[in-house]
Amino acid sequence: IRILAIETSCDETSAAVVENGTRILSNVISSQIDLHKKFGGVVPELASRKHMEKMDPVIQEALEQAGTTFRDLDAVAVTYGPGLVGALLVGVSEAKAMAYAMGKPLIGIHHIEGHISANYIEHPDLKPPFLCLVVSGGHTHLVHVKDYGHYGVIGKTRDDAIGEAFDKVARAIGLGYPGGPAIDRIAREGNPDAIRFPRAFMEDGPYDFSFSGVKSAVLNYLNQAKMRGETVVVADVAASFQKAAVEVLVKKTMKAAKNHGFDTIALAGGVAANSWLRESLGAACKEAGIGFHHPSMLFCTDNAAMIGTAAYHAYRQGVRHGLDLNAVPDLKLPE
Ligand code: ATP
Ligand code: MG
Ligand code: FE
Repeated sequence: IRILAIETSCDETSAAVVENGTRILSNVISSQIDLHKKFGGVVPELASRKHMEKMDPVIQEALEQAGTTFRDLDAVAVTYGPGLVGALLVGVSEAKAMAYAMGKPLIGIHHIEGHISANYIEHPDLKPPFLCLVVSGGHTHLVHVKDYGHYGVIGKTRDDAIGEAFDKVARAIGLGYPGGPAIDRIAREGNPDAIRFPRAFMEDGPYDFSFSGVKSAVLNYLNQAKMRGETVVVADVAASFQKAAVEVLVKKTMKAAKNHGFDTIALAGGVAANSWLRESLGAACKEAGIGFHHPSMLFCTDNAAMIGTAAYHAYRQGVRHGLDLNAVPDLKLPE
């Protein structure tokens, strides 16, 4: 089964050709980071226009690299939510036009289902059920992966997503956009115990998260240092913030695994690329005798290969969408 997958939910225009869910024949990603950098974040209108410009060349390149023509494809898959509506619409319209013109099945995929499915690409032994910690620019979810296409949300953030917190802290300490990778890098030179930032463990929601407190604490720390005329050691702030955020993620994930009896944990989303998080969660799983999986770097942040992998399992389960498929900016994970 050969699937052409398209991803345009945020600021990456991506197309991939994926065979049987695990053979990535191509995975072309055109990032808009340089375009949004000067604004310190993604500007939705600019994102849509850039997707329009890049969509066709990116698909062409994906087909070429895969040595595939339209005729050899079994289906066209596309992210239809959640995400920026104008950005999603570019991919959805393109996928619909292609499916119609070629007379091929159309499969709409949930973006987070894509992130979770990135784990299947390099771990063919990984099969549901398992617990997945989804950490990205817009999500911080503990997800019970019941089966392909069937999910239960055990807990989630009540305010900022973890990636958002990384990006905002990075901006405050002058590291630019996107901040996650920059914090990861500079934190290696800092002391993670230099500053004690708060950890939010809510009594009334053992699996829910809150990152606005730690973010505000970092901003307060910076303001106070400035008022007192003290110099700030950026690497220490980055390392201390990262340690505080990751500690909460790891503790809550391990608690959920133990209380729900999961023997396997997977990590997904852009922040799954974070080296401190990978190490910490990996070590906690090892100690608890729990299996641990994460995608390699390339498949953590937005890409179409993960959508193609999710679509392969959806295809096998008979999922087909009509040409009335629409972009759904607040799409919920299918139960
Ligand atoms: P969502 O998937 O929730 O819709 P998104 O698609 O915008 O949001 P992703 O592309 O999945 O987000 O992830 C981007 C986020 O990952 C950004 O916030 C970025 O800072 C963060 N990120 C990327 N690499 C790292 C890293 N090494 N450490 C920490 N954060 C990282
Ligand atoms: Mg992105
Ligand atoms: Fe994403």
